[in-house]
Amino acid sequence: MTNHFPVGRELFDDVMVPNYAPSAVIPVRGEGSRVWDQQDREYIDFAGGIAVNCLGHCHPALVSALKDQADKIWHLSNVMTNEPALRLAKKIVDNTFADKVYFANSGAESNEAALKLARRWALEVHGSDKTQIIAFNQGFHGRTFFTVTVGGQEAYSDGFGPKPGDIDHVDYNDLAALKAIMSDKTCAVMIEPLQGEGGLISPTQDFIQGVRDLCDEHKALLIFDEVQTGVGRTGDLYAYMGLNVVPDILTTAKALGGGFPIGAMITTTEIAKHLKLGSHGSTYGGNPLACAVAEAAFDTVNTPEVLNGVTEKAQRYIDGLNAINTKYNVFTEIRGKGLLIGAVLNENYQGKAKDFLVAAMAEGLMTLIAGANIIRFAPSLVIPNADIDEGLARFEKAVAKLAK
Ligand SMILES: *Cc1c(COP(=O)(O)O)cnc(C)c1O
Repeated sequence: MTNHFPVGRELFDDVMVPNYAPSAVIPVRGEGSRVWDQQDREYIDFAGGIAVNCLGHCHPALVSALKDQADKIWHLSNVMTNEPALRLAKKIVDNTFADKVYFANSGAESNEAALKLARRWALEVHGSDKTQIIAFNQGFHGRTFFTVTVGGQEAYSDGFGPKPGDIDHVDYNDLAALKAIMSDKTCAVMIEPLQGEGGLISPTQDFIQGVRDLCDEHKALLIFDEVQTGVGRTGDLYAYMGLNVVPDILTTAKALGGGFPIGAMITTTEIAKHLKLGSHGSTYGGNPLACAVAEAAFDTVNTPEVLNGVTEKAQRYIDGLNAINTKYNVFTEIRGKGLLIGAVLNENYQGKAKDFLVAAMAEGLMTLIAGANIIRFAPSLVIPNADIDEGLARFEKAVAKLAK
């Protein structure tokens, strides 16, 4: 098969819906934490496909799992189950608080399942008044209409007509505000155990424990959205483990598939039983190809070497970024947890995060932003130290160009 037309960035504006504004660079292959574009220019990847490529690009274990499964069976529908889905579910259950797994294809779908389950649980266990869902300002839970409304950014949820109802928001880390708004009519509290898109905000220990206690007091379900923090990102298999607070429902996606689309909603047997036969579903959820790749990713990440490595590599980033800051004075703080790192721009560079991203790209480094004032890094959990050092050197060149 040959293409008789150029496949460049201009084509995007011709044939794609304009909801994204991708960069001019079109990567065509990757290996580990290096990526090459159409002109064979090489980049170091500190973005990791937005916290998805937890084992970098084309990790041999994932490639082999995908190729093996590709020769066996691709899809069956949920009229039948399949071996990769069963194996992955068993491993998730054996390594978390959960007893039951529901597979989806993305973070938003996993959260949609969690919210629908919570509403159904409340209706069946406590009656029709218990419908309030509380979430947090600046939170992000996906782009389906229910999840985007639960997310705490009106810029994303406005403009689509009437929204799903009985959803309230309070500030993250404001326990008094949560307490004031909660009652026995609260069905669930949905929270990221570290706000990702909202700016790499960690919960205080008092806050996250307080959220758990308030949910217990009012018999509300605590839903942890670990779509971004899950599968090793923070140095624990799941972030809840590092916080010593156990949710009732947890969602996981992004790194779960290491680059193959998959998500999951996990919970206890008691709660799961309310998602009874026919109450919810997905054509692709639990797809054998996705589950085979995710099983390989889960096995590879869930080892002391990789998880401890996250904490060590995070320190290497923090030291490197602090050294850059000592020279150029651009950040107020470096925050986040594990390999989910935010460099917060100081008052001289307000609104300029995108400029840093663009300047880094020109030096051969892929980064992310979280809002207008934070440069975000979410690299592979197994990025070689040499690539961290080289990437930080490229980042320093970008910073030097922008520093006043
Ligand atoms: C990315 C993200 C989502 C949405 O996941 P999709 O796969 O894009 O649907 C939901 N919650 C959090 C915390 C995320 O970071």
